[in-house]
Amino acid sequence: MSNKVIFDKEMAKEYTILIPMMCPIHFTLLKNVLINSKYRVELLENTGHSVVEEGLKYVHNDTCYPALLVIGQMIDALKSGKYDVHKTALIITQTGGGCRASNYIYLLRKALKKADLDFVPVISLNFSGLDSQPGFKITLNMLRKMLAALLYGDLLMDLSNQTKAYEVNDGEAMRLVDEWISKLSSLFKENKGYKAKDLEKYMVMITKDFAKIKLKRIPKVKVGIVGEIYIKYSSLGNNNLEDFLKSQDAEVRVPGIMGFILYSIYNTIEDEKLYGIKGLKTKLFKIAYRYMLNKEKMMNRIIKENSDFMVSEGFEALIEKAEKVIGLGTKMGEGWLLTGEIMELVDSGFKNVICTQPFGCLPNHIVGKGMVRKIKEYENDANIVAIDYDPSATSVNQENRIKLMLAIGKENLEKKD
Ligand code: SF4
Repeated sequence: MSNKVIFDKEMAKEYTILIPMMCPIHFTLLKNVLINSKYRVELLENTGHSVVEEGLKYVHNDTCYPALLVIGQMIDALKSGKYDVHKTALIITQTGGGCRASNYIYLLRKALKKADLDFVPVISLNFSGLDSQPGFKITLNMLRKMLAALLYGDLLMDLSNQTKAYEVNDGEAMRLVDEWISKLSSLFKENKGYKAKDLEKYMVMITKDFAKIKLKRIPKVKVGIVGEIYIKYSSLGNNNLEDFLKSQDAEVRVPGIMGFILYSIYNTIEDEKLYGIKGLKTKLFKIAYRYMLNKEKMMNRIIKENSDFMVSEGFEALIEKAEKVIGLGTKMGEGWLLTGEIMELVDSGFKNVICTQPFGCLPNHIVGKGMVRKIKEYENDANIVAIDYDPSATSVNQENRIKLMLAIGKENLEKKD
């Protein structure tokens, strides 16, 4: 039986909504959009073994690892004593796709019941009209700001990754990221920064700011990270993978969130081609696809015109690359996007790729680890390693396998030199 607690308009005035962490830059911007829309929101930063333990206690251990961590992080926070649990709500995303991510919300409610916290309301964040709550509404204005936040997030993540590994003054790139997060949040508060003209203006300013960072261009092993969306971005999920790679003197590249959004939209359009599914939904998705694609193109154009930074080839090129080795009907989990991202990384010089695979994630094992041999038929110099993440996997084991991959990467780099 569902134990859904209604989050009403009165609750919206006094409850604190807890957001589980995934990618810090994007989620901090999103959090600030919600705060500016009069919600009281907090982004969870609790990590460590207690999160995994709470997850294992309240989620069945054969459930996908991201669900276990997200639910574990929320229950750990509720039990921490930091929040008045009778004035706290939780928010979780629902993708609306065929994968289990659409059902995390039910797992969360079940876990709350088991932990005697079933009076805590859970809000679903989705754009498919699922599980609506009267106290939480995404207005058009909020939606536009959220999309802008994701675009800025991608830009900041990309440019900071391209500068972090080479900066002369340690920490400069991340200081600039923090500065821009606060500037953009203030702009959103003043109802600025998210319309087309503003987006262009501030993206140019961001790019120019990053282009001013003093760099020491010494050859480094370039490593791309792909995988299931949560494990790919979340340091809690991937045992601080990006920090580890930085400590090993590698340059890291992580594909942006916009690719995942475009992929989610594009799949509905592809359904029309594959299964003849037509209707209003497909028409609306086509409009959304064109809109988002234009925004991606705008971002890439701005980077190209205002700096020497590397620019991604864009989503349309990624479709073409993926199509060489996998059918576009493969759309559970990250589906063909994951395969395409590996190919794009390799083509752009990031020959060393880590594919982060969570326990319990069959779809991503197929499109990640399962595609390595096929990808190598096209990209024979690709150095791909699939790393499993689960509650019992030790970081030592994971790091040893990554070090092996880095050793091959270094060897290849020296040969090239
Ligand atoms: S993509 Fe994998 S981890 Fe995510 S919901 Fe699906 S099975 Fe679970």
